[in-house]
Amino acid sequence: MADCLFCKIVSGEVQVDAVYRDDALVAFKDINPQAPVHLLIIPCKHISTVLDVDPTDHEVLGRAFTVGKELAKQQGVSDDGFRMVVNCGPGAGQSVYHVHFHLLGGRSMGWPPG
Ligand code: AMP
Ligand code: ZN
Repeated sequence: MADCLFCKIVSGEVQVDAVYRDDALVAFKDINPQAPVHLLIIPCKHISTVLDVDPTDHEVLGRAFTVGKELAKQQGVSDDGFRMVVNCGPGAGQSVYHVHFHLLGGRSMGWPPG
């Protein structure tokens, strides 16, 4: 997708502070962190929202949890607890229309989220 910021991050056209990359997923630090640890885990494939996920995406999106788990351990937030959050659509606050998991940790968090 030519106009998608996260596709440009996948291709390397936009530089980020990457912490993980494989053939199907990239993880990097959020530019506007909402917690001491705030990473984004994105599929290399452009998927606009959760509403656009199809069965061929299951393996990669499932793998994102394994990557998230390993990154949470690596970043030292796995013992205290962390969140993996996906916003879908304007009402949920999605601002970049390329599916991504927020991995947030390093502080206590309220529930329900705002
Ligand atoms: P969402 O609002 O759920 O769509 O999340 C999009 C996230 O992308 C926000 O937390 C932004 O801070 C983050 N973001 C936007 N541009 C960049 C960038 N160039 N590098 C890293 N994170 C970004
Ligand atoms: Zn994209």
